[in-house]
Amino acid sequence: MLKVLGVDDGSFKPCNFACKYCRKYPSKKLADGYFDPIRGSTSFNQYRNQHTQVITVLEDKIESTFYKISGHGEISLIPDFLGLLPSSFGKPILITNGSRLKERDLPKLAEIDAVLSISLDGHTSILNTARSGKVESVLSLIRVACDYDIPIEINSVLSKWNMEDFDEFLFFLKKFSNLVCFPFPVRDFSTQLNESYKASYKQFQVFKEKVLDNYQEFNYILPPFQYLENMLSTMKIGRQIPCFLPNIIISLNWQFDILKCPCGPTGNLGNLLNSPNKALNQWKKQSEKYSKKFLFHECNQCYTHFDIINLYLLGKITSLDLRKIPSLSNTKTTKFLKEYSTKCTKEN
Ligand code: SF4
Ligand code: SF4
Repeated sequence: MLKVLGVDDGSFKPCNFACKYCRKYPSKKLADGYFDPIRGSTSFNQYRNQHTQVITVLEDKIESTFYKISGHGEISLIPDFLGLLPSSFGKPILITNGSRLKERDLPKLAEIDAVLSISLDGHTSILNTARSGKVESVLSLIRVACDYDIPIEINSVLSKWNMEDFDEFLFFLKKFSNLVCFPFPVRDFSTQLNESYKASYKQFQVFKEKVLDNYQEFNYILPPFQYLENMLSTMKIGRQIPCFLPNIIISLNWQFDILKCPCGPTGNLGNLLNSPNKALNQWKKQSEKYSKKFLFHECNQCYTHFDIINLYLLGKITSLDLRKIPSLSNTKTTKFLKEYSTKCTKEN
């Protein structure tokens, strides 16, 4: 069995939102999607069948500590989407824009010990200027999920619209338990982004004063301080720390290709539907080549919630810090990361 930290399943691409900073926009909503979720029930079935085929292959060949779906689209567009979550890959993590998840879905998520990873840039419409949808429905989902005691990670993209007032969002989130908020920047990949979303240096400074300099006020709903410090420096001068993610996470795109990395370039290592053995061998080869140099030109501007893993592997945060993070605070994940960190220390 191939041991990996996680499977990052981005195979479902259609979304009911059209956020300004999303990778697939400003191309037309759903225009480049895999199928039209509103009309295509046959396509839902096709997706389900292909997904089952791929998961069956992976279950046979890999051992993982978490399984994250989807991040590249809104998985709850699929009727009975909860049936797509495999039980064999460790902690299930459901990424959602929160617009379509219903209260009736929550008992099942609680039962399988899942983490809800909700994308939201603030608690008001103004802070969410870059996003689609109504903020109030997402906030009410958060309230109900907390009642079910489902751990929540909020993923917030920092842009010129929310950076200066992000502390207000954090004050708002303080009333919830079992919740961590991960801010991260709009990544500066030239094909995806428009300069107009980016915050100014003055806004970075305001964010530093209100959030980092006031960290004690928010420490139990924010990731470790080192995460925020490295995030700000990446936003100002580019990425400074190496990245292990392509070596430990298998990530899939909408065609069930294994991507070279979960967050950056679109290049792939092979297809899991057509040639799974070849694709997994290619991933294994890549995973064995660890270099402190950046693998891709996109790395320079890349910083995501996954960087918490890099910080741990670089010895900048401890396993106690990791325990704060719902998606990583389980024994299997900590054990994998401890072993991998020992291996890295020996090899470097
Ligand atoms: S909700 Fe997520 S996948 Fe959908 S458009 Fe917004 S950023 Fe993209
Ligand atoms: S830093 Fe580079 S290798 Fe790591 S996730 Fe970002 S683009 Fe991928």
